[in-house]
Amino acid sequence: MSLLRFNVINEAIKRKAVVVGAPEGRPSDYFGYNVFNKEKMLKYLPKKSYDALRNTMENGTPLDITTADVIADGMKKWATELGVTHYTHWFQPLTGGTAEKHDSFIEPDGNGGVLEEFSGKLLIQQEPDASSFPSGGIRNTFEARGYSAWDPTSPAFVIDDTLCIPTIFISYTGETLDYKAPLLKALEAANKAATEVCHYFDPKVSKVYSYLGWEQEYFLVDEALWAARPDLVLSGRTLMGHESAKNQQLEDHYFGSIPTRVAAFMKDLEYEALKLGIPAKTRHNEVAPNQFELAPVYEETNLANDHNILLMSLMKKVARRHYFRVLLHEKPFKGINGSGKHNNWSLGTDTGVNLLSPGKTPQEKLQFITFLVNVTRAVWKHNGLLKASISSATNAHRLGANEAPPAIISIFLGTQVSAALDEIEKSDGNSVIKMDGKQSMKFSISHIPELLIDNTDRNRTSPFAFTGNRFEFRAVGSSSNCAGAMIALNTAVAEQLKLFKKQVDEKVAAGTSAEIAIIEILKQYITESKAIRFDGNGYSDEWKEEAIKRGLDYETSVPLIFDRFLEADTVKMYADTGVLSEKELHARAEVEWETYTKKIQIEARILGDMALNHIIPVASRYQELLLNKIDKVKRLFPDDKVDVLAKSDLDTVEEIAEHINKIRELTAKLIDTRKVANKISVEREKAIAYHDTVAVLLDEIRYHIDKLEFSVDNEMWPLPKYRELLFIR
Ligand code: ADP
Ligand code: MG
Repeated sequence: MSLLRFNVINEAIKRKAVVVGAPEGRPSDYFGYNVFNKEKMLKYLPKKSYDALRNTMENGTPLDITTADVIADGMKKWATELGVTHYTHWFQPLTGGTAEKHDSFIEPDGNGGVLEEFSGKLLIQQEPDASSFPSGGIRNTFEARGYSAWDPTSPAFVIDDTLCIPTIFISYTGETLDYKAPLLKALEAANKAATEVCHYFDPKVSKVYSYLGWEQEYFLVDEALWAARPDLVLSGRTLMGHESAKNQQLEDHYFGSIPTRVAAFMKDLEYEALKLGIPAKTRHNEVAPNQFELAPVYEETNLANDHNILLMSLMKKVARRHYFRVLLHEKPFKGINGSGKHNNWSLGTDTGVNLLSPGKTPQEKLQFITFLVNVTRAVWKHNGLLKASISSATNAHRLGANEAPPAIISIFLGTQVSAALDEIEKSDGNSVIKMDGKQSMKFSISHIPELLIDNTDRNRTSPFAFTGNRFEFRAVGSSSNCAGAMIALNTAVAEQLKLFKKQVDEKVAAGTSAEIAIIEILKQYITESKAIRFDGNGYSDEWKEEAIKRGLDYETSVPLIFDRFLEADTVKMYADTGVLSEKELHARAEVEWETYTKKIQIEARILGDMALNHIIPVASRYQELLLNKIDKVKRLFPDDKVDVLAKSDLDTVEEIAEHINKIRELTAKLIDTRKVANKISVEREKAIAYHDTVAVLLDEIRYHIDKLEFSVDNEMWPLPKYRELLFIR
């Protein structure tokens, strides 16, 4: 076996579980230990400043600089007691991931010494030199300034020796350059619109929260094996690799026990996550070998999203302590399941009502149906945009590639809810519903709760499914920032609820009772948005045809899907809700196209290098070995024996030559098409060229490499194979 491959396999096999010291106390003791949460605010802030901060967190009331100074001082005091020496504004640039620049607390004291200082000014706003973050043209290089500004709604936390302040990131001219700022605006728009609609049912509601419960899927690979795969190291996925004889066919991984090494990693990760206030709750094996999932308890969306981003970086760090590498790529291995990040989403009031949970009283039931139907219509109207919001070069390997979910957004409601909507649609319009419950409803809404309690008809092929008290947006990719999806969804719902309110109010103004007006408008919505409802098999070809007939977005080319960011309906939606300006949308689309191009470009380079430096040399060496044998056979045996003794070797030599020639030819083509594409200056056109002419070659080249892996002597093959990468012992 190639020495490198032998060594790394050997290293991986010998690895034992790394047992990190057991956490001290119970989870409830150390939960939030590293977070400046309410408990610490109470302890480290004077009552007046504490109240002011709570008021800012809950009602968005601006903080004055004097109070900010006091808060900064309290934070510093708490943090320095934990041994913290630095602080950073933690933000989420459009690259995905997070950015941070650490500054020390120290300031000269004027007498040759230093003091630990942290002022309100530094807490509230900073000006990171962030000229290298993507801005889609908003920040020209000569105006490279960007500001980070404190988001008090997400608590500060400590990692290692650094106090991290969650911030938004905006340009000098005020445009948002990150994920958090528009997310906060989208959540505010949803809150406003939903609260107003709630007032039809309960005037006491003063705030509606958006909730997010993500489920993070990931792969683990032993670090030694990972390091011997340049494709994994540089692109996060295997660009080549013959399928392992055993994959996920036996479905033994999902229900199997968690391997000891992995269990030790999970425990360590959960301990760290809990200390950071991430309410990690569920862990399990996933369908594919080496694939796992972590899910927390759901939280308010902005906080939940910060926690997801934080968890992703935590995973990478903790994995290394256990000699693993974590793969967050949506499709690290061909032929087995990829990873997603289901976004469980709901809306709930400050009075404690989940608006997507079928209530008990007629009033609650109508409220539930109102929100359900409005969400359905919002998703129908913006299905193309929702797809754009979860699309990327990496997620494209999941979507539509005969794997959950398909590249067409549809909604699964389940039979009971569907039946209820059908009934409302068919009702004669004179249905009377009385809020005081004196008169019962004429349609079957009253039956919903009983039926839903054991609503188990789940549809795993649906990208957007109602699961009893929430929607589950399953199309989100494992590596993405959930904010992409959450901005689009919450804004679409906000726009929709505003429209609903307007239409109901118009009817009421014309003399209709609110209840009748609500039902009439809902009936109309149910009819209009029927096209988005689909309970069948999302993978079938029939569904694709049907979806086209229904007018749903069926585009599969990622660069073209990004066009949805700039369509009139999208621009209007974001403008009317105040979430994103047209300029910001253009910038975001630019960044999406640019990122797409770069990802494919990097993969193309790696594949070209590996084909020429790893694969062809090895295949040639094996050819040579065979040719030596053939040569000897020819010298030692009479002609009529040569055929028997060397026929198969001659065939193999030829077969290998064919693959090598193909790889050379296609690699040359890959370089040429890239050169052509690189000359294109318009980002959209460049991304399209990369999609249409470069990305397709990756699969073609891979085909021949995988064939070679199958015919070349196993002993010579330099790269760890799928069967070695995928089964942690
Ligand atoms: P499954 O794998 O069956 O979908 P999990 O238990 O793995 O379920 O994950 C479900 C996720 O949905 C969890 O994060 C959970 O907290 C979240 N969730 C539950 N109820 C709600 C809700 N009302 N709103 C948002 N998320 C929710
Ligand atoms: Mg789920």
